[in-house]
Amino acid sequence: MENEISKKPNTDLEVQSLRLAGIVRESIVDGIGIRFVVFVQGCPHKCEGCQNPQTHTFNGGTEVKIDRIINEIKKNPMIQGVTFSGGEPFCQPKGLYALGVEILKLGLNITVYSGYTFEHLCEMAKQDKYILKLLQICDVLIDGKFVKEEKDLRLRFRGSRNQRAIDLKKSFETNTTVLVDEIMNMK
Ligand code: SF4
Repeated sequence: MENEISKKPNTDLEVQSLRLAGIVRESIVDGIGIRFVVFVQGCPHKCEGCQNPQTHTFNGGTEVKIDRIINEIKKNPMIQGVTFSGGEPFCQPKGLYALGVEILKLGLNITVYSGYTFEHLCEMAKQDKYILKLLQICDVLIDGKFVKEEKDLRLRFRGSRNQRAIDLKKSFETNTTVLVDEIMNMK
């Protein structure tokens, strides 16, 4: 896999909007700290027991300009990070990468959810450079489909036990999969 982690990210101005299911301005259940949450529209995974079935269709939701999302984030000085959820964020990697670059300029961290596993995303990244770019600007990935049989209400920020919280920066640095113990051990 091409390692572009050291390269400075560039916003691709061709993509100026995202198809969103919605936003939550302040959340403490979508990652560590007080977070702004961006729910993208469209998901191919169809997990049994999904809490957000309205986000599955790729024809629904609303096109929202990236500038507008950034302006909303800037309104709350209490926000410590932004979470990309869904839907499936990696179905809109180019737009979320562009948004992510602007979020980093605000000094905020980024958590991203995906129904794909980290290993699967790394394979997909060979075909789509924006998947790699998006992974490389995010801090934490919560990966894997929601599996009803593995559901555990005691988990924090994860719906089922198969899902992992992955430290993306350390994983790219070491070329291994490094978990975020702080989240994995939280109950
Ligand atoms: S990946 Fe998430 S949004 Fe998509 S079907 Fe599974 S639980 Fe629902």
